[in-house]
Amino acid sequence: DVSGPRYKRILLKLSGEAGVGGDSFGIDPKTLGAVSEEIAQVAKAGVEVCVVVGGGNIFRGAALAEAGMERASADYMGMLATVMNALALQASLEKLGVYTRVQSAIPMEAVCEPYIRRRALRHLEKGRVVIFAAGVGAPFFTTDSGAALRAAEMGCEALLKGTSVDGVYTADPKKDPKAERYEALSYHEVLSRNLKVMDASAVSLMRENHIPIVVFNIRERGNLLKVLNGEGVFTTIA
Ligand code: UDP
Repeated sequence: DVSGPRYKRILLKLSGEAGVGGDSFGIDPKTLGAVSEEIAQVAKAGVEVCVVVGGGNIFRGAALAEAGMERASADYMGMLATVMNALALQASLEKLGVYTRVQSAIPMEAVCEPYIRRRALRHLEKGRVVIFAAGVGAPFFTTDSGAALRAAEMGCEALLKGTSVDGVYTADPKKDPKAERYEALSYHEVLSRNLKVMDASAVSLMRENHIPIVVFNIRERGNLLKVLNGEGVFTTIA
């Protein structure tokens, strides 16, 4: 069998909404279950999987700051939200028989492991899905940056960004019927055109480390494995 997943090790970045929350605050069991099935499928196909999940379904620092809260404290609340999402995803994956570990950039001994790079690598080698929580562990960052940082540290071959649309478009395809999807983009194009794919800091870290970003629709069943096999619809940034 010559076909099969193109990458041996990936990092999957999901926003809080795409990964856990659906379109509602907190946890949407349907979204969580469907996303877990996607991850289980590729893990069982032998791909080593890192996951970074955001916290936007619970708290985003920028939104809290807009409501009058000090930004740094608001960001810590956002990071804590990502830990909750990581635990939800872990529990859901374990129901499917997938071994997982959660590592938090902010140590929380009774809740999960602290982030330890070499230990995370060992988990991956043993076939465990490693979920990285709390972003980079510092305010004024986002989980996109956390995802890019961990992808580089773990030596991932690609950063998969799961969204509710099937790639990067010239405009928001949900609002503009004339919007067209890009097949491929360069890091430079994303940055210079200010395309809202991921944070600029995340994109430039991926550029420096030559790690492609693949934007795809996580809401379509079986799509993660399909995209890893090079099939279906997605946008590659490299
Ligand atoms: N956050 C942070 N530092 C990090 C990662 C996250 O301060 O390294 C905070 C920030 O307030 C952010 C929130 O956690 O708004 C939730 O993360 P994010 O907005 O990236 O979640 P997503 O949009 O992916 O759901």
